Order: sequence, then C-alpha cells, then structure tokens
Amino acid sequence: MNHPVIFLGAGPGDPDLITVKGRRLLDEADVIIYAGSLVNPALLDGVRAQVYDSAGMDLDGIMAVMIPAARAGEKVVRLHTGDPSIYGAIREQMRRLDDAGLACEVVPGVSSALASAAAVKAELTVPDISQTVIFTRQAGRTPVPERESLRRLAGIRASMCIFLSVSMMEQVAAELIAGGYPQDTPVAVVEKATWPEERIVRGTLGNIAAKIKESAIRKTAMILVGKALAEQGGSASRLYDAAFSHGYRPKQ
Ligand code: SAH
Repeated sequence: MNHPVIFLGAGPGDPDLITVKGRRLLDEADVIIYAGSLVNPALLDGVRAQVYDSAGMDLDGIMAVMIPAARAGEKVVRLHTGDPSIYGAIREQMRRLDDAGLACEVVPGVSSALASAAAVKAELTVPDISQTVIFTRQAGRTPVPERESLRRLAGIRASMCIFLSVSMMEQVAAELIAGGYPQDTPVAVVEKATWPEERIVRGTLGNIAAKIKESAIRKTAMILVGKALAEQGGSASRLYDAAFSHGYRPKQ
C-alpha cells in the first residue's frame, strides 16, 4: 500500500513549535525533503529518514525524489516552513503527484505570521480597531494582482502581516502611506521569530524604513502593521466582559 505524501508545516523555527502529529510524521518518515533555507535543521535531529535539502533542487529534482519513493511504498514528508498553505508553492507539487496517480495530505503548521504576533504579544483583532487580518506581500519577482496592491489594501486599515518584503521596507511603507494608512501607524518587524537570534524592531510607518536600514535586517522577517499593534488604545475584548455572554459562559 502506498502512503500519501505529506506536506508538513514545520512551524516558524523553534523545534517545539511543530504539531505533535508533525513530529510523529517526521520520526516515522523514510524520506524527508525540507526547505533548507528556512526550516530549522534541529527538527531533523535523530530522524531515521533519508534527508534531502530542496534549496538546490528545482521542481523536477524534487519530484525525482518524491515520486519513486512514494511508489516504492516509502513514507515521504515534504517539510515546509511555517504553514504550507502560505507562500508554500505546494500546488505545483501536488499537481505533479496527482498526474503520477499519487495521493497527498497537508498537515498544518504555525505560520511565521502568528509566531511574529506572539513575539510582540499582539492581538491582531482588537474590537473597534480591526477585526480583519490580511496576509500579503509587496510585489517583487512574483507579481501581485493590482487590485490587492499594498496601496489598495492600506485603505482597509486592517491588521496586516506582510511576508517576503522586508528588503523593500521603504517601498512597503511608502505604498501603505499613499494608500491611506497614517504615518504614525505602528509597525513591528520580527526577524527570525522563535529562533534564538530573533530580533524585534518597532516603529511607525513614518520611521520604520530608516530603522530597518540601520538594523541591517534583510530577510526572514515579518512586517506587522496596524493600529492594533499599539500598546495602548482600543477597548478590551468583549470576550471576557461580564456583560457579553457566549456559548461556554452564559450571561450572569
Ligand atoms: N509558509 C511560511 C512562509 C513562507 S514565505 C509561513 O507560514 O510562515 C517566507 C517568508 O516568511 C519570509 O520572507 C518571511 O517574511 C516569513 N518568515 C518565515 N519564517 C520566519 C520567521 N521565523 N520569522 C519571521 N518571518 C518569517
């Protein structure tokens, strides 16, 4: 019997931040292909699998490992940073497996967006400020549809988690301001969230570009933007307000 190929979320870096299911799948795997540039190799300590780093492999190369192993009845895990559904490029891999008549499953992970929010102890959804979180990126080599450009999204003034863009911090801030986010909107940039070398730079849309330049943060960082990041302000969540009843806590 063939095992489904598993696309597994490794979490943001800290090896304790993989799911229990994910840990078990790694330990039981015969073949692991991992994204060496972002996945913490400590996750692979003690595994019995044959391990491949996808950093130097293209899609054909990855498939040349995955497909024969899966056909031979081996347990194959494709380990992606954070959660596989976010900028994971899993679709093209799944399509190839489908063409080869092989099944797959996706096991979620803790996205770096959520790990970064935790690092700055932010609640991204604060009543009266924002009840929406946007996961997005600045257009780079990968284009972004114009209708969802940062400039357009800024008009919504939701909390934003901006991936893959810290090297373009100046442009990101300029676009968000041009789109209607005030200059004094809080920003937190979290580099390598949950890794031992994690760094946090806080500022506003008006001054964050200069701070990032000075910090020399160039990659593997999350840009969190929004008024919800302010230390003060906003009303307390209604969830714990005695006047607010919900399913588990009937109104007193
Ligand atoms: N699937 C991943 C994202 C992959 S795209 C996830 O869910 O987290 C790669 C981008 O993710 C990086 O450019 C950076 O913006 C962000 N990233 C990945 N790991 C990170 C970490 N530990 N801390 C901060 N940002 C991280």
